[in-house]
Amino acid sequence: WVVILPTLLIVNCTLLNYNLSSMTNSVIFWHRRDLRVSDNIGLSKAYQHSSKLVGLFCLDTDILNQDNVAPARITYMLGCLQDLRESYQQLGGQLLIFQGNPTQIIPQVADALKVDCVFWNNDVEPYSKKRDNQVIEALQERGIHSQTYWDQLLHAPGDILTKSNNAPYKVYTPFWRSWLKEEKANIAQALGKLESLSEEEINTVKNLGIIDLPTAKDLGYSWDAPLILEPGETAAKEQLNYFCDSLIYNYQEQRNYPGINGTSTLSPAFKFGVIGIREVWQATLSAYENTYSDEARENIQTWQQEIAWREFYQHCMYFFPELATGPYRQEFKDFSWDNNEQHFQAWCEGKTGYPIVDAAMRQLNETGWMHNRCRMIVASFLTKDLIINWQWGEKYFMQKLIDGDLSANNGGWQWSASSGMDPKPLRIFNPASQAQKYDPDGEYIRLWVPEISSLDTEYLVTGKIPPLEAHSCGYLQPIVDHKQQQREFKERYKQIKN
Ligand code: FAD
Repeated sequence: WVVILPTLLIVNCTLLNYNLSSMTNSVIFWHRRDLRVSDNIGLSKAYQHSSKLVGLFCLDTDILNQDNVAPARITYMLGCLQDLRESYQQLGGQLLIFQGNPTQIIPQVADALKVDCVFWNNDVEPYSKKRDNQVIEALQERGIHSQTYWDQLLHAPGDILTKSNNAPYKVYTPFWRSWLKEEKANIAQALGKLESLSEEEINTVKNLGIIDLPTAKDLGYSWDAPLILEPGETAAKEQLNYFCDSLIYNYQEQRNYPGINGTSTLSPAFKFGVIGIREVWQATLSAYENTYSDEARENIQTWQQEIAWREFYQHCMYFFPELATGPYRQEFKDFSWDNNEQHFQAWCEGKTGYPIVDAAMRQLNETGWMHNRCRMIVASFLTKDLIINWQWGEKYFMQKLIDGDLSANNGGWQWSASSGMDPKPLRIFNPASQAQKYDPDGEYIRLWVPEISSLDTEYLVTGKIPPLEAHSCGYLQPIVDHKQQQREFKERYKQIKN
């Protein structure tokens, strides 16, 4: 005992010292696509390490300088940052905002603040993966640790693999089945009070690129229209609760009608991680518990399937980063697109002479958002009626969408163009039958193409507006013939298949 006891005491003291020191040293949490304080795995882990935690966001100049930044998206993001900054203040801490190159700024700030460790949540995009590796290396060179977590998905890439050969899924339905079976994590532990940085500490990082939160205008963007979703955590949670208390029970059918408010409109919150995915999952489980109707439960599961689509496309992007720059099916590299500039312009402006297509494109241009049914219609129209490379449409969507997201957008475009992983069946949407089925009263068309709003519904949904009537409304004749173009597309598709 005389020999053992001091040894035990030493061991205990060492543990105690470690715990104490780890609780007093400061840490940085680097926010990227997780602009919230609740249900945030990386942030929660950082807080468990130390309550002297400072939040950091870096407006990445490389991203801002790209030509695919949507004014609506940047406006929403800045609003979310404002909300996040207030959340930090309420907890007694700070969110520091920088502008520049994160691979330089993060290590410099970490060094200047003498932090123990920088924490963040992983991302699947090729650009983010490369940038994060550079940050990890630069931190290592300075002797600073980094800790990263998967937060934005219920199941991280690698968690859902095929049973037969442990490979990533390339087809959605079997992915969904495996995904659903896996146990989902609980909501991440909430943060308590934060210790704030001293004035001296803030002064040491002031000259490293710290900025006041800019407006979209300061960054060269202008967006005055109302956003489909108010920025910030509170608004996202309210919308989630509203959706899960009501619309979710009729989602399966209602989600198809662009004239109806039948979907969650949470996509901007998902894009920027303004809502925690575990919280979303819990909300669907509560909705499930609140009904005994099998039909209502089926509706809830249909919405859960959309959450799984989002995860499927993110897994695909993670494992097949080449998706970001071209068609998944190599034979599509040789597809003979028409790429008619005037047709493309007409599509962008909502002036194709196809009312449902024009309504959708105008909704996008005016609100920064488009209903999913219409995204499929206009994507099919661009690729299969106008025979224009899907990458043109993909980029235009990124330049406009409030929820523009590489994985979901690329997935949607490659699905529509038939260039992606799951090309069967060859999907060609007929704009007229889509409008007849999903906008039967022409309500949506009337809203977005007001110059034809007084015409008969039949004209609006079939798109067969007599030339004289169209002319007197100032509306155009269709720029291409759907049937003819469909035949043409199939012919060219046969050539690449052979
Ligand atoms: P809900 O119907 O309420 O669905 C809930 C959530 O599930 C959505 O917010 C979204 O995060 C996810 N989701 C739903 N459908 C899909 C899908 N097909 N693929 C991936 N995730 C999905 N979604 C984006 O978030 N960003 C994009 O840039 C994007 N581009 C698209 C481009 C094309 C050509 C197509 C066909 C679809 C695209 N989508 C994109 C998917 C889908 O249209 C939107 O997610 C949906 O319309 C957003 O509205 P909501 O939030 O009301 O969706």
